[in-house]
Amino acid sequence: MQIFKFGGASVKDAEGVRNVARIIEKYGQSNVLVVISAMGKSTNALEKIIHASYHNEDSLAQHVAEFKQYHDEILSELFPAEHLFGRIDVQNLYLELECAIDNANLKHDYDFYYDQIIAFGELISTRIVSAFLLFSGLRNQWVDSRNFILTDDRYRDAKVMWEQTSTVISNRLQPLADKNLVIAQGFIGKGPNGENTTLGREGSDYTAAIFARLLGAQSVTIWKDVPGVMNADPKKFANPILLKELSYADAIELAYYGASVIHPKTIQPLQAANIPLFVKSFSDPEQEGTRVDSRSTNLAQSCLIHKSNQALLRFSTRNLTFIAETQLMQLFTLFNALKIRLNLMQNSATHFTCVIDFNESRLESLKAELDSLEMELFVQPGLEMISIYQPEPGIEAQLPDASTWVLKQQTDRSTHYVIKP
Ligand code: ASP
Ligand code: MG
Repeated sequence: MQIFKFGGASVKDAEGVRNVARIIEKYGQSNVLVVISAMGKSTNALEKIIHASYHNEDSLAQHVAEFKQYHDEILSELFPAEHLFGRIDVQNLYLELECAIDNANLKHDYDFYYDQIIAFGELISTRIVSAFLLFSGLRNQWVDSRNFILTDDRYRDAKVMWEQTSTVISNRLQPLADKNLVIAQGFIGKGPNGENTTLGREGSDYTAAIFARLLGAQSVTIWKDVPGVMNADPKKFANPILLKELSYADAIELAYYGASVIHPKTIQPLQAANIPLFVKSFSDPEQEGTRVDSRSTNLAQSCLIHKSNQALLRFSTRNLTFIAETQLMQLFTLFNALKIRLNLMQNSATHFTCVIDFNESRLESLKAELDSLEMELFVQPGLEMISIYQPEPGIEAQLPDASTWVLKQQTDRSTHYVIKP
C-alpha cells in the first residue's frame, strides 16, 4: 500500500482537482490511501470565521458567504449543473458548519472552538475530490479521519494516542484500505469525548505519516507545488538546488527550522518503520523529486531556510536577580500550557531570550501570567528568521546586511539570523 498526500495548493481550484484525479489514475488507482488538506487558503478563511464568530464581529456573515462561494465555484466547474455529485454532501457540511458556528456551548474555550470549526475545510475538500473521482470513473471510499486519528484534548496541537489509534486503524481501516482507493482528511482527529481535534497547522503531512506507519505502507508521497525539497525556498531565493535525496535526520532538521515543504512531525513515524518518503511535483509528476530514507547519504549542500512573522521575547528579572532554574521552569511550564513553541532560545545572567511564531492572543495570555513570576517582558514582533543549515563559505554572501540582525545564534549544524526586514 502507498500513501499519497495532496496539500491545499494542489486542490486550490477545479483544474487542481482534475490534476489530482489524473495523478491518482496514473500512479495509484488501487491500494492507495489519499490524504487531502483543505482547498487553497480555506483554512485561513475558516480562521477568519472563527475569530469573527468568537468575538461577535459583524464581518462573520461575509466571511461565511465567501467560504461557501469559493467551494461552490469549484463544484460548479467540476460538475454539470444537473449532476448532484458532491453537492448534497457539501450542502450538508455547510449546514453543519453554520450550526457549529452558532452553537454558543462550543465557545467556552478558543482553541476548542477553533478545532470544532476548522475541520470543515478538510471535510469539504475530501467530499469534493471523492465525488469528482467517482464522476470520473474512479471508484473510491471516502472515510472520516476522525474515526481513526484518536488524540488527547490538547486542542490545535493534539497528541496522537498511538495505541488506540493503532487498534482502530488495524480493525476498521486496514480492511477497507486493502480493497479500495481510500480518500481521507489530513490534519483532523478526535479527542477523548468525541470532539474534533487538530494536529497543528499544516499537519496533513503528519496524518499521512501516521496512516503509513499504522497501515504498514511501502511509501508516502507528498505531492507539492515545488519539484521536491530544495536547498532554499524557490519563492524567495533565486536558483535553488533540488535535493535528490535526504536522510531522515537531515529532513527533520530542515523541517524543524521551518523548511515548510515537510511538516516537522512527519519524519519520526516514517523513520521508526523505515518507510521512504517521496516529495514530488504535482505539476510535473514524471520528475523524480526528493527521496527521504535511511539509505540516503548525508547532505552535502548548504540549505537556506526562511521563516517570517517571528517575534523575539526577552524576559528579564526585576532588580538584576539571576534567571535561575526555578524561573526557567516556570517559564517553560507557561510555554507548554499556552502551546508556545520556541524556535530559538538563549539565556544570560539576567535575561532569557526566545524567538517564536508571532501569535497575538497567545502573547496576551503570556503577559497576563507574567506578573506572578516577577519578570519583565520585552516583545519585538515583525521579525524574520533565516537559518543556514551546514554553513559553507559563499552562501553567507546572500545574507542580509548585518545592521538588520537582531540575534545571531549557532546551533548544532545551523546558524540562525533573526533580522528586522
Ligand atoms: N489545512 C490545514 C492547514 O492549512 C492542514 C494542512 O494543510 O496540512 O494548516
Ligand atoms: Mg493547508
